[in-house]
Amino acid sequence: MKRILLGLLFLAVAAGAAAYVFRGEIALALMQRVLERNMATDAVAALPDGLHVGLCGAGAPMPAADRSGPCVVVIAGKRMFVVDAGTGGVRTLARMGLQSGSVERVLLTHFHSDHIDGLGEMMLQRWVGAANESPLPVHGPAGVDAVVNGFNAAYAADKGYRTAHHGEAIAPPAGFGGIAQPFELDAAGNAIVLDEGGLTIEAFKVEHAPVEPAVGYRITYRGRTAVISGDTKKSAAVQQRSAGVDLLVHEALSPKLVGLIGDAAGKSGRKNIAKIMHDILDYHTTPEEAAEVAAGAKVKALLLYHIVPPLPLSALEGPFLGKSREIFKGPLHVGRDGDFVTMPAGTTEVLFSNRL
Ligand SMILES: [Zn+2]
Ligand SMILES: [Zn+2]
Repeated sequence: MKRILLGLLFLAVAAGAAAYVFRGEIALALMQRVLERNMATDAVAALPDGLHVGLCGAGAPMPAADRSGPCVVVIAGKRMFVVDAGTGGVRTLARMGLQSGSVERVLLTHFHSDHIDGLGEMMLQRWVGAANESPLPVHGPAGVDAVVNGFNAAYAADKGYRTAHHGEAIAPPAGFGGIAQPFELDAAGNAIVLDEGGLTIEAFKVEHAPVEPAVGYRITYRGRTAVISGDTKKSAAVQQRSAGVDLLVHEALSPKLVGLIGDAAGKSGRKNIAKIMHDILDYHTTPEEAAEVAAGAKVKALLLYHIVPPLPLSALEGPFLGKSREIFKGPLHVGRDGDFVTMPAGTTEVLFSNRL
């Protein structure tokens, strides 16, 4: 018995040693298999018909390892849209197995830097990812032209490099960059951005002063509806537009945790940081307020995003949420990059997963 055990132990050690010695070769073989599988997979085609909402960026301006800048991917049937283009968003989209070349349109909520600082990369990856032959439509309220034209100008030299290097078939010059699609809000603060083929995308005014205009979006496809708040303080408009929807994706900032950063900054004489931590409290929504909005609107599920501040330990989610789960009793998730919500058409299901 002892001899058998010793023999098995020897074999296990030898196998471990061999795996260690050949770890490079093993990793290469794995990489090859994963690449081939990923390239051959059409993730959107594999989804059930319905409305799907994912977080290509669950964070905000502060650095966070598991939360890129604000970026929400919306898949309605086979059509893919992105709401806001924060830093890292398009890269996270690719990590989620979704092809940047298939992004049909971008919808901007407002022009705070953290919502647009990944737009240049979004436009570039979408262009060369699938040899798109017309620029990426970028919808937004008044002012979106200046943002899009600015990125087009900044990437002008790169446009030349890409076409010169890869050829016009791969990087067709006509598909470079973005094209602004401004919309006007009516007197009540609403606009229809798109209404075709059973898909409706509406914009509505939210409260993010001094940022004007700032909007949220309401998306309906085949009877399933999601609302994305954008950046706002607690807003009656968000609650009203969210009445009975399947999913509310709401921004959230914890004054208590932001206060800790402000206090630490104050103690070490970093006045700018301390002042900014104080100022941001008045134009965002706390997790408990977002829960009140969700409960008031009787939404089916609540996904918090634009998480401020970063939560480097998952144990911080409790302090971040406070009493939110007592206020909103339905499914409530503190968003992370890769979170994905599937709402199949013809059902009432709201299914959460993570694609990372
Ligand atoms: Zn923001
Ligand atoms: Zn903002």
